[in-house]
Amino acid sequence: MRAAVVGAGPAGMVAADRLASGGAEVVVLEATGAVGGRTRSVLLGPGHRLDTGASWLAGFYSEALAYCSGLAMLRRDVTGTPQLVVGGRRYPAPFEPGVLARSPLLGPTEKLRFARWVAGVLARRRRPHVGPPRRADADRADRIDADTAIREAVGAAAAEYVLRPAFETMVFADLADLSAAFVEGWIRAAFDGRYRVPAEGMDAPWRRLAARLEVRCGVEVTEVRPQGPGGGVVVEPVGTFDAAVVAVPAPVAARIVPPGVPGRPAWLGELRHAPHVLAYAARPHPDPPPASDVHPAGAGRHRVGSVALYPGGDGRVPVGMQGATVSAEGWWSDELLAAGLDDRALAAALWDEGRRLEPGLFGLEEATVLHVARHPHAVPVFGPGHLARLAAWSPCPPVALAGDWTCYPCVEGAVRSGRRAAEVLLTAGR
Ligand SMILES: Cc1cc2nc3c(=O)[nH]c(=O)nc-3n(C[C@H](O)[C@H](O)[C@H](O)COP(=O)(O)OP(=O)(O)OC[C@H]3O[C@@H](n4cnc5c(N)ncnc54)[C@H](O)[C@@H]3O)c2cc1C
Repeated sequence: MRAAVVGAGPAGMVAADRLASGGAEVVVLEATGAVGGRTRSVLLGPGHRLDTGASWLAGFYSEALAYCSGLAMLRRDVTGTPQLVVGGRRYPAPFEPGVLARSPLLGPTEKLRFARWVAGVLARRRRPHVGPPRRADADRADRIDADTAIREAVGAAAAEYVLRPAFETMVFADLADLSAAFVEGWIRAAFDGRYRVPAEGMDAPWRRLAARLEVRCGVEVTEVRPQGPGGGVVVEPVGTFDAAVVAVPAPVAARIVPPGVPGRPAWLGELRHAPHVLAYAARPHPDPPPASDVHPAGAGRHRVGSVALYPGGDGRVPVGMQGATVSAEGWWSDELLAAGLDDRALAAALWDEGRRLEPGLFGLEEATVLHVARHPHAVPVFGPGHLARLAAWSPCPPVALAGDWTCYPCVEGAVRSGRRAAEVLLTAGR
């Protein structure tokens, strides 16, 4: 079988690897100049790396971590973070019982309701789980939005002062837009607490695969369509293949795979990805303070979702330097992307807001390194009902769809989706 794989993110690279190991002749077609997609890392100088998208792998990402086997890994545990900022003062996120007991963010009744609710989530979701539940229709929490569910269960204060600030900046979408089941799943995952990152960048496993596969970068695929029974698949503008995996964000898949292609779900055009922009800068600093990560908390919308400071010597930022990232919330990312600012202006806008939140953030004029990342399709928005419709969907030959949006919005979801798409094509080709 000659197969094309569209997209060299984790889903596409894993699909290509699995197809090649199943005996297929594979070519990966990637629009940008590099492998990695939203796990792309950039080398900013000797020993100085920035993950421009995904920046950690959770301990339960069994398949993604298997692809990291043999790579040097750094620990990035999240226990004790983030710090939540209210009225200029900062408080630890009260997820641990001792911290919750001492936290002034919630009153005594709210603390009790919050503790009960967390215990209920942990009991319902016994272990971290990636992908749709086996019986999604039985998961009542997938039918309601997380904001409503949380306000009903624990009240407005826990929603505004704890859960929105801790969570929305991770997925760049409002709790009101997300399925309660999906949010509960991540809350379960946060209690796992063990996170890792490949020392050579989040894209290191995919770059390693690319070294033994045929990957053509700079090829933007504009259409993928089956030619008719037994007639192969036309991949514009490259040629005809026996089969294809399309492993791109949902809005791109909706554009390049025409309606009516088997396995193209009717809801494909409705699935939104939240946008995200961030700026990273680093300055020389002989003795930087320890790492910190602050998120704004409290009612209303915040422009910046987090400001993180990293000391040199953490395995990514060179000794003698201090790095900082300012990340925009999804709605502000949308506005910033629409404004079409150049890198310097975009970084300045983020930095101005970031310094209001984190007075310890150095000025951009001190920075010797600057990088801006723009993600128009950062994270698929798993709204109410999406897990249920995924449980009722699977990829089909000869155009198998893959990508995080078909499984779960994280690297592990992407990896599993890529393997599944490849298996479907290999099985059909036998
Ligand atoms: C800022 C940010 C932070 C994140 N943090 C985390 C995290 O810490 N942990 C985690 O697990 N996940 C995280 N994620 C999510 C994770 O990055 C994604 O779930 C994962 O990368 C999805 O992989 P994918 O292969 O489905 O898609 P992608 O990684 O988007 O890969 C798709 C590829 O297809 C290419 N492409 C698109 N259109 C075309 C076309 N027409 N022709 C050819 N090629 C095309 C793209 O250039 C891209 O290389 C984060 C995402 C972002 C943006």
